Amino acid sequence: MDIFSILTGRRYRLFDYVGHPEAEHIIITMASSSETVEETINYLNAKGEKYGLIKVRLFRPFSTKYLLKALPSSCKSIAVLDRTKEPGSTAEPLCLDVAQSLFNAYQNNKIETLPRIIGGRYGLSSKDFTPAMVNAIFNNLKQEQSKNNFTIGIIDDVTHLSLPYDKRFEINKSAFQALFFEEDSHLDQSLSSLEKTLGNSKFNYVQSFKEIDYKKSESKQVKHMRIDSKPIKAPYLITNADFIACQNVLFADMDNALNNIQSKGTLLINSSLTSKIFWQSLSANVQGAIIEKKVKLYIVNLKNLKTHYRIGEASISAFDTCFLYLNNGYVYSNNLAQLCTKIISVNTSKQTNFNTISIENKSDFESTLLGKLLRGNEEILVGDLPIDGSYQTNTSIFNTTRTLKEKPDWNSESCIQFGAFSMACPQGALRIKVYENEYLDTKSIGFKSIASKDFDLMNYTIQINEDQCNACNNCIEACDVKTIKLKPHFNMENSDWKYFKSIPEFDRTKIDITKISQQQLQEPLFKYSTGDDGCGEAPYLKLLSQLFGDRLLVANATGASSIFFWDFTNDSLVEKPRRKRSCMVKLVI
Ligand code: SF4
Repeated sequence: MDIFSILTGRRYRLFDYVGHPEAEHIIITMASSSETVEETINYLNAKGEKYGLIKVRLFRPFSTKYLLKALPSSCKSIAVLDRTKEPGSTAEPLCLDVAQSLFNAYQNNKIETLPRIIGGRYGLSSKDFTPAMVNAIFNNLKQEQSKNNFTIGIIDDVTHLSLPYDKRFEINKSAFQALFFEEDSHLDQSLSSLEKTLGNSKFNYVQSFKEIDYKKSESKQVKHMRIDSKPIKAPYLITNADFIACQNVLFADMDNALNNIQSKGTLLINSSLTSKIFWQSLSANVQGAIIEKKVKLYIVNLKNLKTHYRIGEASISAFDTCFLYLNNGYVYSNNLAQLCTKIISVNTSKQTNFNTISIENKSDFESTLLGKLLRGNEEILVGDLPIDGSYQTNTSIFNTTRTLKEKPDWNSESCIQFGAFSMACPQGALRIKVYENEYLDTKSIGFKSIASKDFDLMNYTIQINEDQCNACNNCIEACDVKTIKLKPHFNMENSDWKYFKSIPEFDRTKIDITKISQQQLQEPLFKYSTGDDGCGEAPYLKLLSQLFGDRLLVANATGASSIFFWDFTNDSLVEKPRRKRSCMVKLVI
């Protein structure tokens, strides 16, 4: 460790102790959890507690000698935390090492009393580890009958070993907290400029990190940012923000951004609507939450702002500049004055018309286990998980953020019925059907059809599913005669697709699959793939699902196909094709 110190300038012991010098109750843990424990201990000790923390810097080889050096002689009880669960073992690895070390030391008279040692697990299921959990662990440790082998962060109604904790518990919060829900790679460009500008101001300390989406298209990223006049030790997510910015209005609803804003906080949403229409377009849930929390709501049309602003030496994105304008105590810049007419305050005094648009069957899905997971519901019980490990398929349909401003439009007059555009669509959003006269819809205004070239006396329609399309342009590129074009229009009802879906699929036995124009009549069983415009994998998978249907076996190791098939809330295959994990093989038919 001395050599490490010389090389890096950072000094660590094998075990570092922090906390009260005569601590009676101690947590032993490692890695980033120790920051959270230390911050909570400082807060609780200032209120009169005698808590301590041993940070394990080197796990293996485990040194009993140095553990004893770090342990205060006043210690009565210890909670050892592991971020793992080892099924079948009596306790987790760090807990076993600590227990064995102290037991040996007691037997060899190296310590006078043997502290009570309990083990606990945290961070299971990728759950955040927060000061509220640390507080609950100490409360458990102080009980005469402490719960051993406990789990914190999940609700385990099977073993009943989880520790309850008060989510409202917060340690002294001096930092200003902000969340930015942003689309695609916007965050990458803006991450350092805003933080640098803030860090150079009188508020010297800025902490920023981001949650990144696994999806290729329609993805979002959430930036968590804290600003304080003193160093910030808070390696956990922000759940009570002073300020939230949403680049897409759907993030406020679908991602429950409003759950994470504090009372009287500020919410900024990117929108091209006028203040009144914007308010009317919000769902009942969103309006209700805004009114109840007395949130100050603003909208801004980012398209109308310059892409970047220059503040000091940094070039800052328009979205981040709006943050500086609304929180103008942090950075002063003449540049920001011009924003005052662009950021519009929304009148939120009463609830009004609601936007009732929804994806088919979405409300049914929301009440299922996967629906709750997708919405970030924290109250899922261990007992809710299926015993046989089987989950609903074809769920990516519910995991889409419909940000479409333009959609492909079919010009039936110039169409040569080649089908390449449909083949190129990674989403399975553009479909072709050939059908009898009896299915011709005469009522729907937008529904188009022409006579089929390949099949006598049959009708031919190309239809787009607007819920599915992500405007990637692949179909437009693939169409030689440009019969498909992007049009700035959005049919919120998606009624033409609903009608199109009711038309029966064409008889597969009559299709010549060597001709694209006919092969593309086969129904894709791979949909809502979230493949991006540059993603070559999704159209091939879709084609395989059309060609081989329920005889397809997909085996994948990792990469994009893992996201397509193995993220339970983002499964893109309808149930027929089978799928299997594989170490080596990417795809097998
Ligand atoms: S724009 Fe992309 S997703 Fe939409 S229909 Fe065309 S290929 Fe499919």
